[in-house]
Amino acid sequence: MTQPLAPDHILAIAPYRAGKPIEELAREFGLDPAGIIKLASNENPLGCSGRVREALSEAAGALQGRYPDPNAFDLKAALAAHHGVPADWITVGNGSNDLLELASLALLDAGSSAVYAEHAFVVYRLATQARGARHRMVAAKDYGHDLPAMLDAIAEDTRLVFIANPNNPTGTHLAPEAIGQFLAAVRTRHGNRVVVLLDEAYDDYLDPAERTDSTQWVRAYPNVIVTRTFSKAYGLAGLRVGYALAQAGLTDVLNRVRQPFNVSVLAQLAARVALADQEFLARTYALNRDGRIQLQEAFAALGLDFVPSHTNFVLVKVGDAARIDTELLRRGIIVRPVAGDGLPQHLRVTVGLPQENARFIEALSDILAQ
Ligand SMILES: *Cc1c(COP(=O)(O)O)cnc(C)c1O
Repeated sequence: MTQPLAPDHILAIAPYRAGKPIEELAREFGLDPAGIIKLASNENPLGCSGRVREALSEAAGALQGRYPDPNAFDLKAALAAHHGVPADWITVGNGSNDLLELASLALLDAGSSAVYAEHAFVVYRLATQARGARHRMVAAKDYGHDLPAMLDAIAEDTRLVFIANPNNPTGTHLAPEAIGQFLAAVRTRHGNRVVVLLDEAYDDYLDPAERTDSTQWVRAYPNVIVTRTFSKAYGLAGLRVGYALAQAGLTDVLNRVRQPFNVSVLAQLAARVALADQEFLARTYALNRDGRIQLQEAFAALGLDFVPSHTNFVLVKVGDAARIDTELLRRGIIVRPVAGDGLPQHLRVTVGLPQENARFIEALSDILAQ
């Protein structure tokens, strides 16, 4: 009998499906890459701050053969000032994905479980499965997290709860009051045994009135981790850098399982420069707000149901999503099918530049009229 190559819990993992790269579509359909638009991976259509580009070209010229600073001193100092927290409350990651992995590595094992919501970011399940831990998926409510049900789903063996706020792929948002109540209840019922990770990858896209300072929860609770990324609004998806905020004790735990050189020299520099260019962030916010209205108004006009979005993408119900996705690809437009997230009738569309949004809408209307 042949032995399996890996343990069952690893073989059970359905690999992550990333948005199709432009070059791949160009090869498959014989299209000109220049004419393809990608609205599939929630990337920033403005690219990144010009100041980042300048800093990187300069740094490339002066590149030495050294490892990066394992403690990311300069970046942490900038983040500490930005958030008003001590530097030893910060963990840097190779994208915030890395931090989700670190939390699962540090907190989960084969005898424990993690709680997360249906239609939540798929990496929560992947990181849990990779540890051989049980996953307790809680049914979504109106496409979002059902926090009271998630509270009840926390079992004796639960060590970690993942919450995406706003959530990907649904674009839903939880009010600060609901999160505050949830965190207080978890702490009262379970003390430090259960860590809650609040993934705020899309925080920068919230309307000012919806924003809250989530460091209040990090200050209040030693069992809370907040993660942020430079991949989305800051436009550094290709450089891979994110970070976590947590009190020093929990930060120490995360750093025990972190690879010492997990964030490259160039990524550390780019993040620091990007953070200083808040004007770029403001432009990104405004472009996204307008583009989101453009997409949502078009969906309404086409009679399509969509989930009102708090992010840089919109989840829209198109019916036969697989067919429509293929038709869009044929026309050189890449969006994201989300059948793997339990949403076979929906597509997730990233907000692009106005002209990209318009081309997508035109193609979609065309396909729906066939
Ligand atoms: C994109 C995304 C991330 C992280 O992306 P990184 O590029 O690894 O920082 C984390 N959480 C959610 C919900 C996301 O959509």
